[in-house]
Amino acid sequence: MTPSEALHKYYGYTKFRHQQEAIIQQVLSGGDALVLMPTGGGKSLCYQLPAVLLPGLTIVISPLIALMKDQVDSLNLTGIPAAYLNSTQNSGEQQNIISRLKSGKIKLLYLAPERLFSSESRLVSFLKSLTVSLIAIDEAHCISHWGHDFRPEYLMLAHFKTEFPLIPVIALTATADKLTQQDIKDKLALHNPAEFVSSFNRPNISYTVAPKKNSFDQLLKFLDKHKDDSGIIYCLSRQGTEDLAANLRAQGYQADAYHAGLTVETKSRNQDKFLRDEVKIMVATIAFGMGINKSNVRYVVHYDLPKNIEGYYQETGRAGRDGLPSEALLFFSAGDVFKLQGFARVEGNEEQSRIMLKKLDDMAKYCKLQTCRRQYLMHYFNEPFPDNCGSCDVCLTEFKKFDGTILAQKALSAVVRLNQRFGTNYVIDLLRGSRSEKIREEHKRLKTYGIGKDVSKADWQLYIAQLVTQGLLQVTEDDYPVLKLTPASDAVLKGQQTVEFILVENVETSTEIQVPI
Ligand code: ADP
Ligand code: ZN
Repeated sequence: MTPSEALHKYYGYTKFRHQQEAIIQQVLSGGDALVLMPTGGGKSLCYQLPAVLLPGLTIVISPLIALMKDQVDSLNLTGIPAAYLNSTQNSGEQQNIISRLKSGKIKLLYLAPERLFSSESRLVSFLKSLTVSLIAIDEAHCISHWGHDFRPEYLMLAHFKTEFPLIPVIALTATADKLTQQDIKDKLALHNPAEFVSSFNRPNISYTVAPKKNSFDQLLKFLDKHKDDSGIIYCLSRQGTEDLAANLRAQGYQADAYHAGLTVETKSRNQDKFLRDEVKIMVATIAFGMGINKSNVRYVVHYDLPKNIEGYYQETGRAGRDGLPSEALLFFSAGDVFKLQGFARVEGNEEQSRIMLKKLDDMAKYCKLQTCRRQYLMHYFNEPFPDNCGSCDVCLTEFKKFDGTILAQKALSAVVRLNQRFGTNYVIDLLRGSRSEKIREEHKRLKTYGIGKDVSKADWQLYIAQLVTQGLLQVTEDDYPVLKLTPASDAVLKGQQTVEFILVENVETSTEIQVPI
């Protein structure tokens, strides 16, 4: 059977999406692969289909025990024999699966990472006695401290390459930052992995950020336009979800709450009602959504600020899987940033705290953008997106723009003169001709010293931020972030390309929180 035939036979689909076909070819030929695809992109098929075509067993590592059952049930329904082993099963059930594995009747086995390599576990030696054809690691970013969802038990997966040196490994994630990618490759010891990065853009979702003032009234107005639609509203706290769901019911909406504190029965009842369209609105904490495959979610609202862009993007990505126009609305307040800053600090782990705070800063910056939000998001995921999207709230609002070419040239040449080795504040001090002792004497003699005196420090910060979002400057991810040129900077420096800035008078600086750039 060819991959296309299997796609048709088991899934009833006619075409591969994104790079599914190339990914499948790579693992079928025995190579390792790193797959980055947005939520809903179709990652599961990239290892499920090879599992069907390869002779032996495919082991799937997945972090969420709660989702395994659903995944396995739906595979069995499509005629692909699958099973899982986890702590929720009694020994009889486990024995049954083990004997089916021995007789080679199972194609996919789902496991939680903690079970595998623990010292008392004999699972590895048992698995080694079987014919294993492929190892798939879902949510692979959980192995990295740099990600937003680090799970220490994932670190044990490093043993796969020593225990099963000849078996191809496919690692999959929807988190795309560079450090995380590198970490996944290193920690799993992937061997010459082919990397498949799909576009993260979700063109049918439009992004809006509203100030978090009278948010309940604003929400009612929003919902009024979506009376017959399904949607998810994310809140930070469990209590918050219950209160909001009750308030919405009092206004005549059908809304249920979902959070980790509810009983298993309540959770699955509420989830089922939502999936079956009996209740339109799910008011939830982030506990809701992973693995939920509802195609007609028309909107996702963030009633409170998400902790990072990765989470935000994953959550908004649950809207519009059917490709129809959908909305992402977020309520933003500086107060939420302060609140989350408190949570971001991990006791006794400076490094982790720093990463979480940086991710929170990036989230806050997104909310205060005066430039295309989609462009920022794509840029965050290292994806070129040169034009404005035309469909986010910023693009749809008329901002006063002006020709900022000269200002841009000044800033870029200051960065060049400083050999791309200084941070934003230093560059601004140089541009403004600061007399501060912090400015080195030799820099006071540079031609760029003081060429930007007429612009205030706050304005320079906003212009430089715009240069970064426009991809004309980049900020390194070091302990002391410095400004560097990008391949696009050259044309501006040579006067071959003009730059537009948004007039900063529009920016409300009073609520501005100091975000290091
Ligand atoms: P992810 O794990 O990347 O979030 P899934 O693997 O759950 O995404 O896939 C999302 C949805 O897209 C599923 O309903 C899946 O069946 C569907 N899908 C995947 N590949 C294809 C394809 N080639 N054609 C049509 N639908 C697909
Ligand atoms: Zn836009």
